[in-house]
Amino acid sequence: MKITKITCNLLDYPLPAPLHPSWAPGRIFTQTSCLVIRVATDEGLVGIGAGPDAGRAALYTVADLVTPYILGKDPFMVEQISPVIRVGAKDGSYPWLVEMALWDIIGKKAGLPLYRIWGAFQDSIPAYASLAEVVSAEECIDRLSWLAESGFKAAKLRLRRPCIRQDIEFVQKIRAHFGDKMQFMVDANQSHVMPCPETVGAWSYHDALIVARAMEEMDILWLEEPLLRYNYKQIAQLTATVDIPIAGGELNKGLHEYKQLIDAGCYDIIQADAAFSEGVSQLRKVAALAEMSFKPFIPHTWSNGIGMAANLHLAASVPNCPWFEIPIDPPAWTDESRDFMLNEPITIQKDGSIAVPQGPGLGIVLSEDALKKYTRLEWQSG
Ligand SMILES: [Mg+2]
Repeated sequence: MKITKITCNLLDYPLPAPLHPSWAPGRIFTQTSCLVIRVATDEGLVGIGAGPDAGRAALYTVADLVTPYILGKDPFMVEQISPVIRVGAKDGSYPWLVEMALWDIIGKKAGLPLYRIWGAFQDSIPAYASLAEVVSAEECIDRLSWLAESGFKAAKLRLRRPCIRQDIEFVQKIRAHFGDKMQFMVDANQSHVMPCPETVGAWSYHDALIVARAMEEMDILWLEEPLLRYNYKQIAQLTATVDIPIAGGELNKGLHEYKQLIDAGCYDIIQADAAFSEGVSQLRKVAALAEMSFKPFIPHTWSNGIGMAANLHLAASVPNCPWFEIPIDPPAWTDESRDFMLNEPITIQKDGSIAVPQGPGLGIVLSEDALKKYTRLEWQSG
């Protein structure tokens, strides 16, 4: 089989309400964008993948830095093609969607969902609702009540208020309202921010320690990204000092960074993402490294429905993934906001778990209508 053509669509989808994510302080998102790729082959099979909101940089990375070097190649030769994609990542922006599409082709050729090809561990995974916005406790309780009615038994709360005492009081109110009826994780989002209008600093080690101790008291499942991404020394110190698991690694890049941070003793939970961090093949190695280090591997998934599906197959094929992240924060970020490019949104089951799609490959179908309606920019190889 040979790769014969690559098509990229940069999509803009208007959100049902403005989104104020904690990872872009002061920025208001009225739309969500993503790059969708279709990789066609001489056998008529077409693989799909998608990358996060990185604007035109993502499209040109695929068009200029990756496509010329993979046309004509056999899509089964993932390990041979992956280094080309990694070069694209070094000089451009998030080309991992190309590898998702290769695996989608392989799954479609085999007639099997990817997680079964890789050696399945589970068919469904306990899901948690991953909120986005820093809102009042009252507003958050309303949203969480709705999510609980939808089946969610766990949720991740955002901490990024002007001072850590406010963050701690916020979690105390949420815990007091729900008691043991829901489980909670917290994400401090101190490792990085997206381009945004506000000048932002990051917590000190002392701040992180105070918050971690307070979260321990409230039986929070983990504290995510309490310190800057490359502050390995203090991340390792905090991980060793507190009892609450410290999670992170969503935007680290490359196998070598995960090796470095695991060797340094950073994080109890590794959260690489198939849309942001590396290709799926390399992330399977990261998951294995986490397993060998007796750490859970719980992928970050905050991109779009296709990226989430790629992470879901990855998560279901490793033995050390006890939770799966479902990005959802109504009214702005709904199943439809996340999965608008799919024929059907991916939803959780009544028992609060997410089932792995059983179709071949990624097990999802692109919506041709959405492609037509929301394409801002399209590019095709010659
Ligand atoms: Mg996070």
